[in-house]
Amino acid sequence: LVDEDGAISEERIASLEKHALLNAIHHSGKADVGAVISKVMGDFPELRSRAKLIIGIAQEMVVKVNALSVEDQERLLKEKYPESMVEQQRKEGRVGLPPLPDVEGKVVLRLPPEPSGFMHIGHAMAGVINFTYKEIYKGELWLRFEDTNPRKVAKRYYESFREGYRWLGINWDEEKNVSDDLEIIYDHGKKLLKSGSAYACACKADTVKKLRFDGKSCDHREQSVEKNLSIWESILAKRFKEGEYVIRLKGDIGSLDYSLRDPNIFRIIQHEHPVTRDRFIVWPTYDFAVVVEDEICRVTHILRSAEFHSALQDTIRKLLSFLPVHIHQFSRFNFRGTPVQKRLLRPLVEKRLVSGWDDPRMPTIEAIRRRGILGETIKQFTLQVGYTKSEHEYDWSLLFSINRKLLDPKVKRFFFVPNPVKLTVSGAANRSVTLPFHPEKYLGMRKIDTSNAFYVPRDDIEKMKVGQTFRLMELYNVELTSKKDFEARFIGDELIKDTVRLQWVTTKKIEIKVIEPYQLFNDDGTYNTDSIKITMGYAESAFSEAHMDEIVQFPRYGFCRVDEDGVCILVHK
Ligand SMILES: [Zn+2]
Repeated sequence: LVDEDGAISEERIASLEKHALLNAIHHSGKADVGAVISKVMGDFPELRSRAKLIIGIAQEMVVKVNALSVEDQERLLKEKYPESMVEQQRKEGRVGLPPLPDVEGKVVLRLPPEPSGFMHIGHAMAGVINFTYKEIYKGELWLRFEDTNPRKVAKRYYESFREGYRWLGINWDEEKNVSDDLEIIYDHGKKLLKSGSAYACACKADTVKKLRFDGKSCDHREQSVEKNLSIWESILAKRFKEGEYVIRLKGDIGSLDYSLRDPNIFRIIQHEHPVTRDRFIVWPTYDFAVVVEDEICRVTHILRSAEFHSALQDTIRKLLSFLPVHIHQFSRFNFRGTPVQKRLLRPLVEKRLVSGWDDPRMPTIEAIRRRGILGETIKQFTLQVGYTKSEHEYDWSLLFSINRKLLDPKVKRFFFVPNPVKLTVSGAANRSVTLPFHPEKYLGMRKIDTSNAFYVPRDDIEKMKVGQTFRLMELYNVELTSKKDFEARFIGDELIKDTVRLQWVTTKKIEIKVIEPYQLFNDDGTYNTDSIKITMGYAESAFSEAHMDEIVQFPRYGFCRVDEDGVCILVHK
């Protein structure tokens, strides 16, 4: 980070490469040197005094970049500079949150999770959007559990959402369960029966399905209001069993939108509910409950992903003479190789292809936290990408680059040697070095006593030739004298330009197992059998100070979170 020997730092070279790639992509693969230089000078004005050198490097870089195909340029940009993708998204008009339309008076928003599974990254991003608008407009935010299917909901899922939102720094003003309001929802159901907009149907589920498919109605549709009301009372009095009756909305049986073909709005579910126990057996369907609850909560703006039955909810709202709500739908947040759908994830848990719902490869908030992603990262990521109506698949790399920027200035760095090999150094006196845990910020120091024995990464040594000089980082320079026996000799202290620098630990070391999570599914939708890798290595002895859950950086390896004693999870490189 410091220009130890006056060289142009890697960061500035990277900026040159990034701008060369961006410029090339926007000009049919051919970058312009002048444009690239002015961008880099803009980023780093201090480079103006070294213009000649920069021009030379830029020319070389542009020749290299222009020799690539546009596809390769794009791939390289995405791999090495994922943050620049935001510039691309800005061009496509997909950055940040647009102002909320139709704001008159107080803005009321809601987070309506169904506690039937663990909170995942899609819920988190929708949560950030709603919360951000609440903050901007000084509005009110509800946390409302859509818990009207007792067979699916469970206590631990309610808590998963509460914890997840708290972790994201999302504060809600009011909280309720839809199951608290069942009797109010019943009243609205009764209203529809009374007005002839709903009816009790005793057809078997299969029959309803077939009739619905054919666009045909059953005889129950023509039943009198009196008969419907009396059946309704009997249903509420628990005189019928599950499957014997449902309440259906009189929709449009011939509609092209199947959700409007007389959908169920109430059904009997004989299953204990985690909150109301066995008090109720009549449960509203999701769409019906949501509409009634939005009215009860006086919600003004709904911001949600587009997997809901909009037309059906509008119909119900009109039939009940509720005030209109401003609805903004956005496409679901999809991440490459990491679907959030339970039907795709549950088999992995059941077949033990993952260690559980909190396996670091999973998209649940529990997993993402365990992996070492910060709540602030999800927030910044969401606000950067904004939301879009068209389907879009996000790449984890942009999220990782935000996380890296947040972690870099505040986590301790420890020496870590993956796949270690013992290196014997001759000609050096034992030393005692005191090094800070961070090069710029004071996060404490540690003292390391060296002898002639070190551990260094096997891969690095194997790439070297006998006679090659390298530096044991922050210590001194050595020359490799034997590759077979892993021997080297001391050759001096002074920094030498462009020397390979190796991480090292002394014989006082701690054995660490690092779990490296990768993309869960291949691009063709199959389970990626290489989605977990294990690396064994040695950390320096000071690493014993790192506490459970701490995130650290192992320079040249990656950021890691301490998961348990002797086990770390790789957050990202
Ligand atoms: Zn029927």
